[in-house]
Amino acid sequence: MKTIGLIGGMSWESTVEYYRLINEAVRDHLGGLHSAKCVLYSVDFAEIAELQRRGQWAEAARLLVNAARKVEAAGADMVLVCTNTMHKLADEVQAGIAIPLLHIADATAQAVTQAGLQRVGLLGTRFTMEEDFYRGRLASQFGLEVLIPEAADREAVHRTIFEELCVGTIRSESKAQAAGIMGRLVESGAEGIILGCTELGLLIGAEDCRVPLYDTTRLHALAAVKYALEPEGHDPLHA
Ligand code: GLU
Repeated sequence: MKTIGLIGGMSWESTVEYYRLINEAVRDHLGGLHSAKCVLYSVDFAEIAELQRRGQWAEAARLLVNAARKVEAAGADMVLVCTNTMHKLADEVQAGIAIPLLHIADATAQAVTQAGLQRVGLLGTRFTMEEDFYRGRLASQFGLEVLIPEAADREAVHRTIFEELCVGTIRSESKAQAAGIMGRLVESGAEGIILGCTELGLLIGAEDCRVPLYDTTRLHALAAVKYALEPEGHDPLHA
């Protein structure tokens, strides 16, 4: 079994889910007392969120590359950046290490395309919904058409992520609001919804939406386990 490297803490509320999902999946596959071989580097999210807010992405990249190198030095065979937003810096992180970075958008898009969907709604932070690094990858590498909520709805989702979910608050009002936002995306033609923020699965479930949900935390974690349990020599970047 390969060792899974995690760069977490963004927020730790979702990193807990990664750890649980990865270990459950290894147990499901191997049974008995088996659990995942993992290395976790967990950042102080306040520092990262402040760099995001100020647009200091080069500094954020330095921080993540440093974390990724520590994970690699500790024996990891792959790196997962446990947040969609920070995949804005995926290329910089990959360039700084010799082990593969498993991209969260790729794991997600593979599940979406395997289900035969072509047009999806995307919820996430304002960075993930509005910038090109995530939507552009879904479109150019997987041929997906990506719908995002209107401006007021984007603001509401972003606020819920940072002011509630990342500090462990789950509110039924926010769940109802998210259901409304997803409903509007479905009315606009979305055949599925990508929960493109690793905390959204803590708030939103299948009961909130009438089209399939693609939880990036779960799909990313499962992609890591799949690679960890594959025979030596398999290249996840060219699967
Ligand atoms: N975990 C969130 C994500 O998946 C937001 C935290 C962050 O800004 O990194 O995007």
